Amino acid sequence: MIANLAELTSPETAEAVARSPLAVLPLGSVEQHGPHLPNGTDTMAAELIAQAVAERLGAVYVPFGPYGVTPIHAGHPGTINLRRETFEALLTDVCTELIRMGVQTLVLVNWHEGNIASMNAVATNLQDRFDAAFFAVQACYTAQRVYRQDGGELTHGGGIETLAVLAYDPVLVKTDRAGEPTRPPGALAMDRMRRSHEVYGFITDVSELADGGWYGDPRWATPERAEQFTKTVSDAVLSSLEAVMRARTIRRDDR
Ligand SMILES: [Zn+2]
Repeated sequence: MIANLAELTSPETAEAVARSPLAVLPLGSVEQHGPHLPNGTDTMAAELIAQAVAERLGAVYVPFGPYGVTPIHAGHPGTINLRRETFEALLTDVCTELIRMGVQTLVLVNWHEGNIASMNAVATNLQDRFDAAFFAVQACYTAQRVYRQDGGELTHGGGIETLAVLAYDPVLVKTDRAGEPTRPPGALAMDRMRRSHEVYGFITDVSELADGGWYGDPRWATPERAEQFTKTVSDAVLSSLEAVMRARTIRRDDR
């Protein structure tokens, strides 16, 4: 059973936090995802993984709200772009309230690349200000890692994102409207460019990647794969998360 902050009573919340001072928040985005996927794809994916992680950790699951920082999709019907200041202020307030409630460890489970700079800024600011530890999970990158050998690609609106929505609610996936798999020349190279950890460039409008606003192969997402999606990705997230948490604990206990 998931201890969802919005569903708990106040005394139940106090008990849950006293039992395990750990909170997990999903971060996503509402933005166009082509003709075949819902605008809330990233938020749905983040929620699935965050709920599974919270359940396994015995943590409180804290709904955050669907919106993220997504200027690259601004202007397309369905996109709601939060200014960075808005998103950072919202995340700061939510996390500060959790810390005041007694939460000591906050895990931000993100499925939207546009949120990364802001979530890192908020996490480091608050960890510096309060006696709390933050951990970041880029669940979309974990999914990319675990599905790569199986031919799954993390592209905007492509196979892995289609799989996430199929896992969330198959009714929302309209693969037949996507037509043939699309692979605009250079799009993969552009994605590699912006995702590198060493030398990288930026994309400020999705049309730089693909004229239609998405690319990839939605048909890679099958119901069989979707059935395992949440477990496959959350298992991988948890094993990395436990290793990262252990690293902090070892260092802290040593001091
Ligand atoms: Zn997406």
